[in-house]
Amino acid sequence: MKRVFLAGALMFAPGILAAQGMASVDEALNSITEDDVRNRIALIADDSMMGRDTPSPGLEATANYVAGQFYSFGLKPLGDAGSYMQRYPLNETVWDLNASHITIGGTRLAAGEGFQVLFGRGSTGTISGNAVVVSGSFADENAASLDLTDKIVFAVVPTVNGDFEGRWPGLINSILRSGAASFVLVSQRSDEAFAAAGSFLERRSTVRAWAESGVGGAGYFEVRDSDVADALEMAGFDLAAARANPAAPITATPLTGEVSLELKQRIAGRASAPNVVAVLEGSDPELKDEYVVFSAHMDHIGISSRPNEDGDSISNGADDDASGTAAVLELAEAYSMMAERPRRSMIFLTVSGEEKGLWGSEYFANNLPVPTEQVVANINIDMVARNWADTIVVIGKEHSDLGETLNRVNAEHPELGMTAIDDMWPDERFYFRSDHFNFAQKGIPILFFFNGVHDDYHGVDDEVDRIDAEKEARIIRLNFHLGLEVANSDQRPRWVPESYEQIVNTSE
Ligand SMILES: [Zn+2]
Repeated sequence: MKRVFLAGALMFAPGILAAQGMASVDEALNSITEDDVRNRIALIADDSMMGRDTPSPGLEATANYVAGQFYSFGLKPLGDAGSYMQRYPLNETVWDLNASHITIGGTRLAAGEGFQVLFGRGSTGTISGNAVVVSGSFADENAASLDLTDKIVFAVVPTVNGDFEGRWPGLINSILRSGAASFVLVSQRSDEAFAAAGSFLERRSTVRAWAESGVGGAGYFEVRDSDVADALEMAGFDLAAARANPAAPITATPLTGEVSLELKQRIAGRASAPNVVAVLEGSDPELKDEYVVFSAHMDHIGISSRPNEDGDSISNGADDDASGTAAVLELAEAYSMMAERPRRSMIFLTVSGEEKGLWGSEYFANNLPVPTEQVVANINIDMVARNWADTIVVIGKEHSDLGETLNRVNAEHPELGMTAIDDMWPDERFYFRSDHFNFAQKGIPILFFFNGVHDDYHGVDDEVDRIDAEKEARIIRLNFHLGLEVANSDQRPRWVPESYEQIVNTSE
């Protein structure tokens, strides 16, 4: 009988061998192929998925594809009400203009008139307290040494031809990283440019429904000289003098009197987004109640406001993280084919909302479908199809004996031509920046496979034709061996005690 392939999901339906769970380790391993990896990434990173923003129809389509694959592998659903989907709640918020103000002494500025919101989602609450005005040359190398921690920071920024110089003044990053409570640009922008910024106030933002996004760092704002010069003078800062001397050494001048930001958003609608989760039950009567979790994020950043030269504006996220999603699928397929299943149970998880701030994994870690203490490890895979062909960075090796286990497994498989190396960028704190961190905080040892960023990172050219599927297939095989070792060994992985103390949140 001739086979007719009707839809993408059918293309990857496993063979008879898989359905019957009859495969040897080698046969299971051989199901992990370059072609499968490329085909899966091509499907997930297809333009029709529209960049898989959270929430979006493309994300839902991706989740449905993953769930369909889990079903075809014969995996047990571990989501809501016997399904593969674990949905988490989102709120859609808009700024409450009548209840949002910036106050400097006796001057009260209204949202959309006296101040604009340049960036911010979910900000709500009141910030008051120590305020400073930063002025002078932001190119001054002393900028980084100003102590702005927990302060409301007004920054007197240069304006050129009625608008900001460049896309953002260069200091913003250093101020945002300084731990400031909030950040207000003082500009001389034209009425047109200032009014145009008001469109942000009308936009709906989507935020997690279970946690208030704090006010600090969640937004930045703009006021103009004409509205605040008098108020700042009363509070001890001479704006005209600062404007007259833009090349002066950078300084932070404390303001006297009351300064506060009252920010309020109201809920304008409700939404939700999916995680997809399935389990392969372990073969050992006791150890099957322990779980190894493989995870990747299936969401990306959606449509870009900056199209490339060809007019392409879809951020496909082929490497970030269609590659990891494909890896989780290939692993799920391979393990589910095995005649002799791993001793511990294996959970396969694709989350969403990673790009928004690790939403899906946070929700999953707080709403685990199995007892937390029975999850023995999380192996997270995010961006594994670019850069070097024979090495992969694995972050978190030093924090538990999973690192040693990986080194040993890696040494046993020289045929892979793949070396798992230590974190190359400890200063970037990647350990704290992807989904595995939500597991680590719960006391679950983790490893994070990551090939590092590249020129196409979060750009519209992170496309399937730039990925190295052959390399990724070897990384997945390494993960297969690693997962098998962790699932089958008598001892569960153990933390390095100092790391446990430093990373695990024991206050709950
Ligand atoms: Zn990612």
